[in-house]
Amino acid sequence: MRLISFVLLVACAGMLLTANAQNIVQTKTYPKNYFRYPLDLPPTTAGSFGELRPNHFHSGLDFKTNGTVGFPVHAAADGYISRIRVQFGGFGNALYITHPNGYTTVYGHLQRFAVEIEKLLKEKQYQLQSFEADIDVTPLQLKVCQGDIVAWSGNAGASEGPHLHFEIRDTQTQETINPQLFGLTIKDKVPPGLSTICIYNLGNEPFSEKTTRRLFGIKGGAGHYYLMKPQVINVSGPTGFGITATDMNSTSFNHNGIYSVELKVDDQTVYTFAVERFAFDQTHAINAYIDYPIYLTSHRFIQKCFILPGSKITVYPQSIDRGIINFTDNNTHLVSYIVKDIAGNTAIVSVEVKSSPPKLQQPTAKPAATFFHYDKQNEFGTDKVKVVIPTGNLYDDLDFSYAILPEKKGTYSEVHRIDNRMTPINDTFELWIKPDNSIGHLANKAVIVNTDGTCEGGDMENGYVKAKVRTFGDYYIKVDTVPPTVRPINIREGANLSKMKRLSLKIGDNLSGIKSYAGKIDDKWVLMEWDYKTHVLSYSFDQTLSPGRHQFELTVTDFKDNIAHFTANFIR
Ligand SMILES: [Zn+2]
Repeated sequence: MRLISFVLLVACAGMLLTANAQNIVQTKTYPKNYFRYPLDLPPTTAGSFGELRPNHFHSGLDFKTNGTVGFPVHAAADGYISRIRVQFGGFGNALYITHPNGYTTVYGHLQRFAVEIEKLLKEKQYQLQSFEADIDVTPLQLKVCQGDIVAWSGNAGASEGPHLHFEIRDTQTQETINPQLFGLTIKDKVPPGLSTICIYNLGNEPFSEKTTRRLFGIKGGAGHYYLMKPQVINVSGPTGFGITATDMNSTSFNHNGIYSVELKVDDQTVYTFAVERFAFDQTHAINAYIDYPIYLTSHRFIQKCFILPGSKITVYPQSIDRGIINFTDNNTHLVSYIVKDIAGNTAIVSVEVKSSPPKLQQPTAKPAATFFHYDKQNEFGTDKVKVVIPTGNLYDDLDFSYAILPEKKGTYSEVHRIDNRMTPINDTFELWIKPDNSIGHLANKAVIVNTDGTCEGGDMENGYVKAKVRTFGDYYIKVDTVPPTVRPINIREGANLSKMKRLSLKIGDNLSGIKSYAGKIDDKWVLMEWDYKTHVLSYSFDQTLSPGRHQFELTVTDFKDNIAHFTANFIR
């Protein structure tokens, strides 16, 4: 086996690793006893920092709130409110507090804000005539002291249940950092749980769904694991390893994420992963970290212990040859996975592998036009389709494939098979599809649609419909000529809403999605909240509306500028 100078390579990486009291790998130390817990409840979590989620690493701690909303949220330290954000999805209502020590704390999925903050927000929303808002607040406007109540916990935005999402970011870089490294610990005596290891026969080919994988069940507990079926596993040539691991703490039954994985071969560390901190533009690279094809087909997160060449995420404090081990000798080696949670609880599994020299293989010839290099911009085109993948969007080289399939009824192009969905993309790529001649005057209503049903939007440009899409797969053109739907909940012509707290309706769209909406009462714009999960649009009555008869008017527009109108008079 070739293991080139480990000492030299680690030194070259320039990364100084420290280990704290719990023996946790970290590249920096962080102030302890500076931040307090943001809730008064005993700290317990439903989600850990760096936990594996669909298309992202979880960027904070999810504090549990007894399954309900409305708990006071406290400023974690002295500072000032620096940003107020309201989104349909995402964190819903979020608050950012900047602290003088170089860190910013973030509080997400809030139910509502403290009075002063709410006042400033509402002013801005009326000024911009928009429910969604992203407000930068100057340092002297809203100062806070540690412990001040700044908001109440909720379930807003893309939240799957009441909780408080809490982050600590580096103010300068906006990198998010594991809050537990600041001493905000969660009681934890439970080591990680391991269930499967995976061995990849990488050869000299790019990693893909075609890579040969072998899965091995493991069993055990209390930190010690072994193969379900005792055996020595044969390996040969460039080989990668992977593992499935989750973690629980002592305060809940939730399965959260682990903190680190270290891979050792004969006692030499060849790879380490640790969720200490990361930047938000790196978070999609989770699809380079996990075995993405396995995730798509079975929803299992196998955490690969080797690094794809185009993955720029900073969760790998050390590695030799990207964690790929080239087995060339005839010896038996011991491969160990050391998996830790943030409290330092450890689970270990070791397997014996029997190495053999790889058989000499003629490299397969690759057609140059469709062999894409991960470190270059890549383009592909026919007279009906164009694909432009900007540099930095592929994690590995790609033997790109394309096929054209027959046109379906009710569509305006053939189906274009753009590689396949198993290949992850870091961000978007440009897809241009030429519509057939029947599109005529409907060209301005054209969108690109994935056969899985996702509408990717699009605009006509040089005779093509052009869209930015996030995944490979099968695409075709459709048109959206149908206005959004408006379904009143408690408003109809002549309705008496005197006893109602709010006026509400449900809105939706069939294809391109809702671009904007505007509600008016007596011809004046009013703030209407849109609930991302229920699609309910509502206006909360306040004191400013006098008793009597009023006119309500709503306009909803989709991304292809189809417009729905609704009007009704009501009594207040
Ligand atoms: Zn969260």
